[in-house]
Amino acid sequence: MCLFCEIAKGTIPSKIAFQDETVVAFHDIAPQAPVHVLIIPRKHIESAQALTMEDNDLLCHMFEVARKLAAELGVADSGYRLITNIGKDAGQSVAHLHLHLIGGKTLNWNN
Ligand code: AMP
Repeated sequence: MCLFCEIAKGTIPSKIAFQDETVVAFHDIAPQAPVHVLIIPRKHIESAQALTMEDNDLLCHMFEVARKLAAELGVADSGYRLITNIGKDAGQSVAHLHLHLIGGKTLNWNN
């Protein structure tokens, strides 16, 4: 079972920030900043390392959703970070591609 597939299906509850046919965004359960949203594709993709050219539109759409959410959540002007962890050394804990949208405070390199 993939945790984020279940969240995308709605079988595991989350605080949804946005959803459409291909992308779901929800608030991180352990936020690292005042704004911390995860943007995921509904399609199960293990990480950015598993992306193919077929995913071009999907990936573009994920960034579009990030941009719109950043504006909605009030961090588009102050600035924010988009992060995707890939694999063990990066600390990826859920093997389903996700963008962390983090902002709402001055970010150091560690957070
Ligand atoms: P990563 O470590 O890059 O794989 O990020 C996984 C993120 O998922 C972490 O920031 C977790 O806090 C977050 N997370 C884990 N379980 C949940 C959940 N049930 N709802 C929302 N966020 C979650």
